[in-house]
Amino acid sequence: MKPQVDGERLWGSLMEMGQVGREGEGVNRLALNDANKEGRDLFAEWLRDEGLDVRVDQIGNIFGVREGTDRDAAPVVVGSHLDTVRDAGVFDGALGVLSGLEIIKMLNQEDVDTGRAVAVAAFTNEEGARFQPDMMGSMVYTGQLEVEKAWAASDDDGVTVKDELQRIGYLGSDELLAGRYLELHVEQGPVLHSEGLDIGVVEGVQGMAWWDGEYTGEANHAGTTPLGLRRDALLAAAELCIRLRETAERLGEGSVVTMGRLHPKPDVRNVVPGGAFFTVDFRQYERELYEEGQAIVAKLVEEVAERHGLEVSLTQTVDAKPVRFDPGMVGLVERKTRELGLSYKVMHSGAGHDAQFMSHVCPTSMVFVPSIGGRSHCPEERTTKADCVNGANVLFRCVMELSGADGV
Ligand SMILES: [Zn+2]
Repeated sequence: MKPQVDGERLWGSLMEMGQVGREGEGVNRLALNDANKEGRDLFAEWLRDEGLDVRVDQIGNIFGVREGTDRDAAPVVVGSHLDTVRDAGVFDGALGVLSGLEIIKMLNQEDVDTGRAVAVAAFTNEEGARFQPDMMGSMVYTGQLEVEKAWAASDDDGVTVKDELQRIGYLGSDELLAGRYLELHVEQGPVLHSEGLDIGVVEGVQGMAWWDGEYTGEANHAGTTPLGLRRDALLAAAELCIRLRETAERLGEGSVVTMGRLHPKPDVRNVVPGGAFFTVDFRQYERELYEEGQAIVAKLVEEVAERHGLEVSLTQTVDAKPVRFDPGMVGLVERKTRELGLSYKVMHSGAGHDAQFMSHVCPTSMVFVPSIGGRSHCPEERTTKADCVNGANVLFRCVMELSGADGV
């Protein structure tokens, strides 16, 4: 057989999944909410329709397994996630999961025997929009996060991951060992689209560090408190924001830093802010610079507090180190891309993905397809049908070779 997915069928399942959790223009399948359950149920039903054995592990990761002839070899796992951020597009995560499903459909349709089993995975809470840390399912799966800690994570309303897993019926106990892992994902950045390329051959993922911080000074009267006597927490946070930016520019090499949340307290117009809660997100691909940047951020937060006479608390919530994928797997993706006559570049990912954790337990790589205008995490997120199909075909060829499919 010619390894080629059914593009119309793949697009159809993407669009159908994109209706689940739809509110207006956007999709709201936040991890473990009702719409996420609905998406999971639909996916599990599609897996069963293909005769697959559906397994759910203790953190709610779903695996559909198509057995191979070699029972001793661990499966080739293809996957991504079905949860979304708030007001999301339809491609982020779903493309990777449903391309895996489409590959299974092709293997069934063409009656292909594989040596290794082929499994499709949907990991729990990749986005981290409702529960932190993000990439929770793949972190637990790969032993990078204890399941008890993940279960105890709670959302803004105090509801825990374990409560929600139980409520929606996805607190499982199954296990699956991965032999190889591949993930197709939209780039979520502007590079491929702006350079007019078909495929990104992903060689690694940049490191990502998150902190929650809080400055505490003194709330006071905005009219009667002289500037020199203020302990203004928001002013300190504002200075920190600017100095973080300068730090990233000085470090260079693609370093990026973001203060995405900032809440002054008491948040009243005529009161000097006595408190300021903030978050910091720092990313870098080079391991040494990543470690150096983390140390600088922590020191900077302290320095600014001291200068403003404030108390400070700083908690690091994420430390996902930069990852270099297995060269053999990266080479395989590149070779299959070339076989298909597609244009490509070898690149690293700016966003975090389940693949970065899977790379700790088995040889791993990723395939990127262009995001129009680089837009993602918004209803305007788009990837053309042709690009989705190209990505799925690269993935399919990789799976055929890795699983030792007959005729390959
Ligand atoms: Zn994603």
